[in-house]
Amino acid sequence: MDESPTVTAADYTLTANSAAASAAERTRLMEAPAFGMVFTDHMARATWTIDGGWGNRRVEPFADLALHPGATVLHYSQQVFEGLKAYRWADGSTRLFRPEGNARRMAASAARLGLPALSEQDFLASIEALLAVDGDWVPTEGESSLYLRPLLMGTEPCLGVRPSHEVEYLLMACPVGAYFSGGVRPVSIWVAQGFHRAGEGGTGQAKTGGNYAGSLLPQQQAQDNGCDQVLFLDAREDKYIEELGGMNVFAVRRDGTVWTPRVTGTILEGVTRASVIELLRAEGREVVERDISLEALREGISDGSVVELFACGTAAVITPIARLVSPDFDVLVGDGGPGTLTMHLRTVLTDIQYGRRDDQFGWMTQIA
Ligand SMILES: *Cc1c(COP(=O)(O)O)cnc(C)c1O
Repeated sequence: MDESPTVTAADYTLTANSAAASAAERTRLMEAPAFGMVFTDHMARATWTIDGGWGNRRVEPFADLALHPGATVLHYSQQVFEGLKAYRWADGSTRLFRPEGNARRMAASAARLGLPALSEQDFLASIEALLAVDGDWVPTEGESSLYLRPLLMGTEPCLGVRPSHEVEYLLMACPVGAYFSGGVRPVSIWVAQGFHRAGEGGTGQAKTGGNYAGSLLPQQQAQDNGCDQVLFLDAREDKYIEELGGMNVFAVRRDGTVWTPRVTGTILEGVTRASVIELLRAEGREVVERDISLEALREGISDGSVVELFACGTAAVITPIARLVSPDFDVLVGDGGPGTLTMHLRTVLTDIQYGRRDDQFGWMTQIA
């Protein structure tokens, strides 16, 4: 039995931003926004205390935060976040893609980081409340969207190492243009050398900023080696592929089957990953979630038994991978161009997200 009181968007009290962008200014800001650089006029917030639970739900002007320098998040990284998008459909409505998946994942991430969960209903209510006032920030251009960034963090001024007794929930939003502005461009991937993203029993399955902090140096090394992204191997044997810094990976085999690393607790389980698997299975394809050694992958690419490689996540949806590089090898996947199945998946997913195709799985939620 759910004993938590019903939370709706009406529980988020609005304080309007008197300095909100004018329509002309908003249009200018939304012209070609770099990812995560332009923020809307408001943010949604809620505060949790150990005695009172969640309360003080509000939508207020987007502004700098007042944070005590001793706040837990600043010292011990007690923080989790989410990432999802609001899409404008041709009929003017605004829809979310599988937001309940993000709500559930944030609750699971929160549990791992010793943070209180926000209910699924509250998560959706906060989005609805923010979009009610910032709805004009959802772009209308093809393949652009409003990126939503929910965040939970420990804010109690306390240098003692224990879960914070005060937690802040924040929801901010950024209009984002098409990820690939000049058409889909396959990326090259560098295999991390001597660094791992996550270990067994660690926080790899949680969407927490610390995982990203640890990926920045290997990501820099990928770039130093002429690659776009870094691929991490498992920490125990340094042998099996896991994922990129912020995207899951798939390999398409010549026999038509599709392989992706099984989730073992060290891989972040993407909503896009789950959707790709469901989509492929609905199309009658065999999807195998298994351990994939780097060795087998490299050999498969070289002997032609692996014909496509792609990464997936909310920001870029599906990204074709053209090259796999390490100090020992540099192999081109297929002819290096975007694969047929890769591009098919990309089209189907984006068509569902933008309402150009029947939502056969019931993945879209109308929010405004
Ligand atoms: C967010 C994230 C993904 C992708 O998840 P989606 O729900 O598909 O956006 C993959 N890996 C990591 C490490 C992530 O943080």
